[in-house]
Amino acid sequence: MSPETKPDYLISPEGLRVDGRRPDELRPVELKVGVLKQADGSASIRQGKTYIIAGVYGPRELHPRHLALNDKAYLRVVYRMATFSVPDRKKPAPSRREKEISMVIANALSPALFLEEFPRAVIDVFIQVIQADGGTRCASINAASLALADAGIPMRSLVPAVAVGKADGVIIVDLGDEEDKYGQGDVPIAILPPTDEITLLQQDGFFTRDELLEAIQMGIGSCKYLHELQKDALKRAYVRKTPDGEPVEEDEFEDDLETDLGEADMPEEDE
Ligand code: UDP
Repeated sequence: MSPETKPDYLISPEGLRVDGRRPDELRPVELKVGVLKQADGSASIRQGKTYIIAGVYGPRELHPRHLALNDKAYLRVVYRMATFSVPDRKKPAPSRREKEISMVIANALSPALFLEEFPRAVIDVFIQVIQADGGTRCASINAASLALADAGIPMRSLVPAVAVGKADGVIIVDLGDEEDKYGQGDVPIAILPPTDEITLLQQDGFFTRDELLEAIQMGIGSCKYLHELQKDALKRAYVRKTPDGEPVEEDEFEDDLETDLGEADMPEEDE
């Protein structure tokens, strides 16, 4: 792969970004729920060229047992990048960065979960980055929270996340790889709707107070949009469908059920 070179500018004279986006515009996002057969819950996310799959197992018995927590479940997150996910082959051994991002993701997700309902158990969240093009920790949080919901884990809310940053002095949202590498800063944010409490906030680079406030506002706005996409993805996975793939309205479903069973097949009521 040819080495990437620094672009002449990250914001054009027209105010657009290297991929033509406006400063507050997200990359195209595609969320899918229930993508893995073996996991209790799963989801995938494509955000621009970033592509990630998350699988959840549990709550289940924790091994080794000495790691168990007496008052709540242990949320064990493992974030890994595939060797082919980045331009330079990623060494298969877990890196310090992967361990740190695993912890950051666990901290961002745990306020959304009722971990105290499952003392001494473990909830395993395995995240595999298939292709990395910036923003993988936030995209991982978006997919992992959907996978947790798909596994039927009780949750206060889904957790949407996005990275905000600065390039050529302009606050921008959802950084691509070039913006991440050559921009002036990176602020990943995750929130807990509907109160929008912040469960992840990191900062790389230099921001004035006003720039940082603008970045957080922009990030929260984009997280709210991502939350709608997350809810849509869940609905798509769980909505009842007619044989030709059309969603069934709840009333229609009850009517169909009665018609299918038929009066004659209904069990006799006890006298
Ligand atoms: N990256 C890479 N090789 C690595 C780690 C990261 O090329 O070993 C790239 C990848 O595209 C990633 C980006 O650098 O998305 C930014 O990484 P960062 O640590 O800022 O985390 P992220 O923005 O993905 O949450």
